[in-house]
Amino acid sequence: MASKNLVQGEKGLLCLKCSHLNPGNLNECEYCKSPLFIKCKKCGAKVQRVLSQCQKCGHRMHKSFFDKIERKMFARSRKVTLGQFGLLIILAIFVYQAIKMVSDKL
Ligand SMILES: [Zn+2]
Ligand SMILES: [Zn+2]
Repeated sequence: MASKNLVQGEKGLLCLKCSHLNPGNLNECEYCKSPLFIKCKKCGAKVQRVLSQCQKCGHRMHKSFFDKIERKMFARSRKVTLGQFGLLIILAIFVYQAIKMVSDKL
């Protein structure tokens, strides 16, 4: 009965870690042995790790695949802007020094 709630179709269950497609009703990945399901903290239902929400009660999983990606992207974009800001300051100092050197010579 529980298997009816799962999104597996004919393709099987996709492993979040190695992207291996696991046939049938396996609890862990055939290939890398990482678990394919997590337990919902709210209702205790078995939820596929590739899903970000519990299919039974709609509870949002804490460590969802998409949340992780979102956080990673946010952290990276923040780092890039910080790096660009630093580069801009260095460039400004460099230009200032160059202008100063040229004006001293004149
Ligand atoms: Zn795997
Ligand atoms: Zn649930």
